[in-house]
Amino acid sequence: MERRAASLTAGGFPLPCLAIVEGASDPASAAYLRQIQRQFERHGLATVRRQPERVEQSALDALLDDVAADTSVHGILVTQPLPAPLKLDAALLHLPVAKDVEGVHPWHAGVLAQGRPSIVPSTPLAGMEILKANGIALRGKHAVIVGRSPIVGRPLIQLLLLQDATVTVCHTRTVDLASVTRQADVLLLAAGRADLIDGSMVKSGAVVIDFGINVVGDTLFGDAHYASVGEVASAITPVPGGVGPVTNAMLARNLIELAERSA
Ligand code: NDP
Repeated sequence: MERRAASLTAGGFPLPCLAIVEGASDPASAAYLRQIQRQFERHGLATVRRQPERVEQSALDALLDDVAADTSVHGILVTQPLPAPLKLDAALLHLPVAKDVEGVHPWHAGVLAQGRPSIVPSTPLAGMEILKANGIALRGKHAVIVGRSPIVGRPLIQLLLLQDATVTVCHTRTVDLASVTRQADVLLLAAGRADLIDGSMVKSGAVVIDFGINVVGDTLFGDAHYASVGEVASAITPVPGGVGPVTNAMLARNLIELAERSA
């Protein structure tokens, strides 16, 4: 990644720059955003953080228009969830496709749904990268996703189909979740419920990718009960330290991709 960023600057183009747009200041996400900024700077990437003057949709939309017009910015990350009354759908109308670093714009979601990914949300991309890096083939495997959000579960459906997996998606209306998760060769957890899945809900030898980040007291938990699932699974990503760091790397890769396209 450093090489790609350096070759842009060597060619006379500006450093790839990520604008992080927050709906309001949020102490809970401040540490995480500072960590992204440090990691990006280590990779030779620039970041700026911006907040609207007021927590009003018109102020957020105006800020996005401003950042969109800034030629030094190559990618815009709108942090989620936005505080009320701000609406992501409305804000997305002010996010140009060419600067949509998280692949949240309907155009990016649309081409992904057609099996032609362009910029893909970094979290599901990280899960796929972990599977690939560990040599876990997906062709013909039964992949079960728990969660159907636009930022994790839904993009995973398309990414797994592109690898010829057979895909099942579970959500809060799924009847007998355990009977479905027990069928998974690869189980992908994106529900945001601490310890939702225990060892009795996992097939022996399954691979488990845990996207969940659940804060209980001062501790982070995944969606899997790590100890009991670890006993039956052949592999499981830990929380913290599993999908999270790879997600930041995928975000950096998306930013460099946008900067290269703009150059
Ligand atoms: P959302 O709350 O938007 O979506 C959660 C999904 O899980 C929904 O589809 C919901 O179903 C489903 N779900 C919730 N509870 C259950 C349950 N008991 N049984 C079955 N399905 C359930 O969350 P996100 O997709 O934004 O995030 C999911 C998790 O991933 C969170 O812990 C989040 O913190 C984490 N995350 C991690 C990132 C990373 O870098 N590792 C980045 C982004 C998110 P329904 O649709 O029916 O409501």
